[in-house]
Amino acid sequence: MNPKTRILFIVLLVVLVWNMGCNTTATNQSENPDLLLINGKFHTVNDQQPTVEALAIKGNKIQQLGTTTDINALVGPNTKTIDLNGATAIPGFIEGHGHFAALGYSLIRLNFLETKNWEEVLEMVRQKVKTAKPGAWIEGRGWHQEKWDQQPDKTVQNYPTHDELSAIAPNNPVLLRHASGHSAFANKKAMDLSGISRETANPAGGLIIRDGSGQATGVFEERAMDALYLALKEYQSTLSEEELEAEFQKAVAMAQEECLRNGITSFQDAGSDFKEIAAYKKLAEDKELDLRLWVMLRRPYEETKTYIDQLPILNAGDHFFTVRAIKSQVDGALGAHGAWLLQPYSDKPGFVGQNTTPVSEVANMAKLCLANNLQLCVHAIGDRANREVLDIYSEAFKKNKTNNNLRWRIEHAQHVNEADIPRFAELGVIASMQGIHCTSDAPFVEKRLGEHRAGKESYAWRTFLDSGAKIANGTDAPVEKVSPIESYYASVTRKRKDGMEFFPEQKMTRVEALRTYTLDNAYAAFEEKEKGSLEVGKLADITILSKDILKVSDSELLQTEILYTIVNGEIKYQKK
Ligand SMILES: [Zn+2]
Repeated sequence: MNPKTRILFIVLLVVLVWNMGCNTTATNQSENPDLLLINGKFHTVNDQQPTVEALAIKGNKIQQLGTTTDINALVGPNTKTIDLNGATAIPGFIEGHGHFAALGYSLIRLNFLETKNWEEVLEMVRQKVKTAKPGAWIEGRGWHQEKWDQQPDKTVQNYPTHDELSAIAPNNPVLLRHASGHSAFANKKAMDLSGISRETANPAGGLIIRDGSGQATGVFEERAMDALYLALKEYQSTLSEEELEAEFQKAVAMAQEECLRNGITSFQDAGSDFKEIAAYKKLAEDKELDLRLWVMLRRPYEETKTYIDQLPILNAGDHFFTVRAIKSQVDGALGAHGAWLLQPYSDKPGFVGQNTTPVSEVANMAKLCLANNLQLCVHAIGDRANREVLDIYSEAFKKNKTNNNLRWRIEHAQHVNEADIPRFAELGVIASMQGIHCTSDAPFVEKRLGEHRAGKESYAWRTFLDSGAKIANGTDAPVEKVSPIESYYASVTRKRKDGMEFFPEQKMTRVEALRTYTLDNAYAAFEEKEKGSLEVGKLADITILSKDILKVSDSELLQTEILYTIVNGEIKYQKK
């Protein structure tokens, strides 16, 4: 080799080695985790590796799990590390049944969940009237007559009457939704605008509460609310598109913040219309959602049919938005005597509740879902309602020979005849139940249903789980606060804060309840392969808690705080 060639060779060699060096560093760096969570107590909800100390996140996925030493060894120049100092980490809570926009609206409108009596409700309206424009509707939600510490002077069927409310707001229609969502209170102005008079008949599936002279007292149960909502809609049509859009966006932002504060990383919305669905999809695609939404389309059959070609919507905006289910509803709720029963109410002789959507329409929905490979989720609270829906499902499944993994759901499955409970597991129907409803309703369940139906057939989690059924858990927010901790506490104790205990033999174990709030909720949405447990390759959705909810005493559970909420590998909430 002559000196010139020799120099050239050396230069080439140096360049080559230098490049290799660069490449090696680049490759290593691209494999280094972005975030390490160390010194934690992880409950993974993965039976193969139930507990670990630490976890590494790369991008939006879980990269590795192991001991703190193992995970620390993965550290790279750009890796961030959070020392959990012994805190507990679990798969991000999945809210299994809530109402996302309604939760947001409940936070910007009058919210009565914390009111102790009718007087407090009236006082909140009184304050609101002061700043309301004449003619503007005043909306609120969350009152519950069964939970008041004192009864109003004048009541009809245990409800107050509208006189005082009408006097407080003579120029503003007022519409106050019951906590359950299954009845509403209206003042005179709202009733006038809705065309309600003594002559107005009860609609099918609804009841107008009346005094001795036949006058409406202000309370409208189930489908009787339709007339009020029609009048409200008419008013809203006078508002500009921008005003409505701005309010919707504000509601979404409020709901999102509230969920993240409560450790929720995915939210299953039990019923939105197509306009809302389009808006959520856009937010997801614009990367403006901070938690994942899984939404059921909820419209009457004829309208649902017109949207069917646009479904499913799967994993839009990088796994932040999915619609693959249709919602329907066959009865009302227990509080308002709307649950549809096989035998009459114990406290309303001869009355068996409300069938709110004709069974034939629900059967048509089933056919539609079957033909389009969508899940069907039907609200059924009473034992008759549950039986009707199970009958519809089992008929539909017989026709569906190719696929027995449909994961259709019954939303609430609250009061189910003993003979029907095993049918959930047999048919593969998911019981989408809300732990917190049990303790929240506890003061009046036995009054409504008597001892047998209350003890053996209400929120019968133990019987459901022992029969092999899968339970999805949630809060039905804004019917209840969107707190997985409170619903988890109810699931494992069946105790109220006031000490009352509701048939504790039906409670879930701690491990079962955690599963219902994570992996089984994911399963109920066909998402168990990407979330619901902490495993390599799954989405990095993780909630960090101040207490070990599998171990601490019952009384300590409710003091559990959310320290971090991590969605898609990013910290979306951190306790200050
Ligand atoms: Zn609901």
